[in-house]
Amino acid sequence: AVMASEKEAALSATPSDAPTIFDKIISKEIPSTVVYEDDKVLAFRDITPQGPVHILLIPKVRDGLTGLSKAEERHIDILGRLLYTAKLVAKQEGLDEGFRIVINDGPQGCQSVYHIHVHLIGGRQMNWPPG
Ligand code: 5GP
Repeated sequence: AVMASEKEAALSATPSDAPTIFDKIISKEIPSTVVYEDDKVLAFRDITPQGPVHILLIPKVRDGLTGLSKAEERHIDILGRLLYTAKLVAKQEGLDEGFRIVINDGPQGCQSVYHIHVHLIGGRQMNWPPG
């Protein structure tokens, strides 16, 4: 179904441990434009970019990390890796003037996919506060 907005998608998403579309992106069953990949992290271009550069960074194994609010001590390493990889990809994308990192969590945070992901957005001037 075509969603009217990201917000609508987020409000209709059910927070759960069910498989998500990102499993199929990891398995390459659904194509995506991968910009970085290692044994733990996959980074690919967002299908609805909110800027000239918009990349999603995800753990290849979700391990219960549907969102940041579900983080446990065992996730500390992958959480650090996601942010460090975001920095590497920002450099790779030439975002030398800056960029924005976002982790949406839950309905009020406008999360629509329940497999933790870091948004890396750049290539334009950002505003604050966010919408
Ligand atoms: P959230 O709203 O949960 O923080 O972010 C989910 C993001 O996943 C959205 O920005 C949305 O555009 C992106 N997305 C959803 N489905 C796909 C897809 O099939 N491929 C890609 N590349 N991005 C997707």
